[in-house]
Amino acid sequence: MKVLLVNPPRFEGIPVIREERCEITERYSVMEPYSLLQIGALLRQQGDEVALMDMNGFDLPYDELKAGLSKHRPDLVIFRFTPTTFDWDMRTASIVKSFDRGVVTAGICWTLHTMPEAVMKEAPDLDHYILQDYEIAAPALAAALRGGDASGAPGIASRQGGEVVRTPAASPLKSYDSMPLPAYDLLPSLEPYFVTAPAGRPYTILYTSKGCPYKCSFCTVAGTPLKMRSAENILSELRHLKERYGLRTASFYDETFTFDRKRVVELCESMKEEDLRIKWYCNTRAQLVDPELLRLMRSAGCRGVSFGIESGSQRILDSVEKRITVEQGRQAIKWAKEAKLKTFCSFILGLPGEDWSTVQETLDFVRETLPTSAQFNVAVPYPGTKLYQQVHGDLGLDIDFRKLYQDDAVVGTEHLTPDDLNKAREMAYKTLYTSGRWWRSNIAHVVREPSDLNLAFRYALKIANNYLLHGMKHAH
Ligand code: SF4
Repeated sequence: MKVLLVNPPRFEGIPVIREERCEITERYSVMEPYSLLQIGALLRQQGDEVALMDMNGFDLPYDELKAGLSKHRPDLVIFRFTPTTFDWDMRTASIVKSFDRGVVTAGICWTLHTMPEAVMKEAPDLDHYILQDYEIAAPALAAALRGGDASGAPGIASRQGGEVVRTPAASPLKSYDSMPLPAYDLLPSLEPYFVTAPAGRPYTILYTSKGCPYKCSFCTVAGTPLKMRSAENILSELRHLKERYGLRTASFYDETFTFDRKRVVELCESMKEEDLRIKWYCNTRAQLVDPELLRLMRSAGCRGVSFGIESGSQRILDSVEKRITVEQGRQAIKWAKEAKLKTFCSFILGLPGEDWSTVQETLDFVRETLPTSAQFNVAVPYPGTKLYQQVHGDLGLDIDFRKLYQDDAVVGTEHLTPDDLNKAREMAYKTLYTSGRWWRSNIAHVVREPSDLNLAFRYALKIANNYLLHGMKHAH
């Protein structure tokens, strides 16, 4: 099979992240399509011929897709799409079909994977929807198409006589270490990629684990099987990136990087020993860190940790089964700062039970803890989550999936309207950005860490630009 992998163009000029739980527009980050690089490597392994167009990364217009199709003459095109850029991303399928109706189209979007019927109804040029475990389902689809019948591939939805039919779920990968090295060579370079501000390049994201056994009611990956790479396997990818691209910065894109403390210790010690000199960032939960671990991570190149704090109200945290306490969040931020790590915290406004008093608790938490940076999102009832069930099932609301923005509320709570939540979001950003203590602590960080000066300067410009010009839309 000749397969063309496509990350569609930017949406109205704004970069889009199309990676599993994170399928959003993000004005200030350009991330490489890591999942497509993984699929590329897997397809090659089974003998398929693969090409990739990262139209988002290299800021290519849709016109270039036709040229790519003429050049590569694929049998199958696999592309990613997101809910809020749905119609824009689906142009990929339409262009493929107008080029040659015989070319098969397959799309991947984690956020909508529980509702393939609704998706395919709105996307007439999409032949197959790869629903879950793309590491298994995407190569299986290519292999099945080789035999002329897609129905042998697990984990997909396809059209059959006007109906949308799902095949049995794909079994998750048993060993994440069995994955080949992502096909980085399908990219012309790592030049376009950065997170938050264009500094610290070459940069990449990578998964060192995937899945999350926690059950937060608002989260699309809650309760998904956890698969973890060994420290040695991660190191082999980092070494390759260092030798081949001179990698300087990486984001470990895992949901919960420190889930297995022993693995993190092993990885950090090896990174120190090999003196890889890669600055890295990770996401985790507040109760899965301790001062000793954070100090070790810092000494191995870690420069920042993202915590999903979600709320400064214990009542709200309990209502969404977050299973952390406000105090654990407070402590984690303090410990990380003491270890000289930057802290990036995400908060959600509008979770069940939110009222002005709980919003105030979140603002007080932010004012007190002053994370280096924060994302304030409004609650989004993503399909497949318990929150979706509450909104759609209990309240009987039917929401267009194209409107699932984290920066513009579609639903309120019992006490607050969507407009109130948008206002609360603005208040939260204002709380942080107008705090003299916050500016002083970030400036003190740069004084201590002059290598961050370029990043800090660009970050300050980003804040001014985003806050004053864009009202914090399409950015987090
Ligand atoms: S811990 Fe994070 S990734 Fe896991 S379910 Fe909760 S919000 Fe989702």
